Amino acid sequence: MPLNIVNGIGNSHKHNFRRRIKAKLVQAFGGKCCCCGYEKSLCSLTFHHLDPMQKEFTIGKVRLTEDDMEKLIIEARKCVMVCNNCHAEIEAGLTGVPETHPEFNEKLFRKFLKDLKKNIDNL
Ligand SMILES: [Zn+2]
Repeated sequence: MPLNIVNGIGNSHKHNFRRRIKAKLVQAFGGKCCCCGYEKSLCSLTFHHLDPMQKEFTIGKVRLTEDDMEKLIIEARKCVMVCNNCHAEIEAGLTGVPETHPEFNEKLFRKFLKDLKKNIDNL
């Protein structure tokens, strides 16, 4: 049975946890839109699959288990981070993903997950 890393934590905390995961994902992608450099609001940053045949993942749907964190990392490897504006333009074919863009910093993100787990264990 997969260990639920937020076992015993209430819903509001789960919401908070998801925000923190997203914040760290954003950080692991360099903190800004790879097209225009937008970095003001976490809510306006999203992840775009480089291969359109790949299913888009939604951070809101990720369950907070170690299994899902692994899936999240696998998905993140296939994505770039863009703002909602640029995402809409990419989807509409008006703009393209720049050839050079920050890669997902998996090491940084894994370190965050490790630290987070430690904190939860110490609650
Ligand atoms: Zn942008």
